[in-house]
Amino acid sequence: MAKIIVTGAAGFIGSHLAETLLQQGEEVIGIDEFNDYYDPMLKRKNIAHLHQSPGFTLIEGDIQFLDWQKLLKNVDVVYHQAAQAGVRASWGKAFRGYTERNINATQILLEAAKDAKHLKRLVFASSSSIYGDAEALPTHEGICPQPVSPYGITKLAAETLCRLYHKNFGVPSVSLRYFTVYGPKQRPDMAFHKFFKSILQDEAIPIYGDGQQTREFTFISDVIAANLAAASAPVAVGEIFNIGGGSRVVLAEVLDTIEEIVGKSIKRNHIEKAMGDARHTGADVSKAQRILGYQPQVSLREGLTQEWEWIKSLY
Ligand code: NAD
Repeated sequence: MAKIIVTGAAGFIGSHLAETLLQQGEEVIGIDEFNDYYDPMLKRKNIAHLHQSPGFTLIEGDIQFLDWQKLLKNVDVVYHQAAQAGVRASWGKAFRGYTERNINATQILLEAAKDAKHLKRLVFASSSSIYGDAEALPTHEGICPQPVSPYGITKLAAETLCRLYHKNFGVPSVSLRYFTVYGPKQRPDMAFHKFFKSILQDEAIPIYGDGQQTREFTFISDVIAANLAAASAPVAVGEIFNIGGGSRVVLAEVLDTIEEIVGKSIKRNHIEKAMGDARHTGADVSKAQRILGYQPQVSLREGLTQEWEWIKSLY
């Protein structure tokens, strides 16, 4: 049985990860500060069932102020999922929250990880937003990052810190650049969650811009599989991997699929393109395939159906 820390354990991705690890019989220390970027009650709900697992401990607090030397004792793997997410909200005064939660918190964790002799892996949740409007699609890891949002800049800074602490101090970090993750428990500020909620409440769904933007969507269970592989693949240390869902789709076409799933036509409300949104994203996942054995398993239609079922149970 391994001892594992999941930061951001009450969030969308962290809660799924903690659940899978507990199902595998691991001991999981979940860390979350339950901030109010979105309703903290949703976060409590995400992990409510985990408290029944004897292997689960929850620590409520801000990463920046925890005793990491003590926490990392005998810990095998840290999955660092905690962050201030959201590209559109990262402008203006909110930016301080992004630098603290994404850059400062990661640096504090890495400083402690330097001296954690037992630690075998630190998996960092990076983001496709570091690419910005990438010149080549699908984008491979070697392309020069050019974020178009303040959020993307903070994720790139944190990822670079992981690389530096690996290079200079041997911290066994691995970074995974997730491409738009979706599925049950998706954050309420994310597109599919908003779409399904609007449909359920018979409201028009908000679409930024002309709807011709393309996205690579990645189902949550594929992201969890990638994390587990990143924590165990022998040659993954010090590396960066794209984690995508296997195909790039035009947003307007996803809406057609959604209409089929919900069984009714949906009202669309086109609003102005948001600042910080990349026009297109697309992942070249060949490196993750080669080194992590990563292969996305869940089709968009199947994944959207699961998210729709969850939304109906939530509202
Ligand atoms: P989320 O907001 O649902 O989860 C993040 C959790 O971290 C929250 O519960 C929050 O309370 C917690 N947290 C934030 N700062 C903290 C701190 N300083 N101390 C303790 N807890 C803190 O977000 P998510 O969608 O699950 O994203 C998880 C990770 O994946 C993030 O690092 C995000 O940047 C990254 N990511 C997500 C996506 C996506 O599509 N969801 C895409 C790319 C990257």
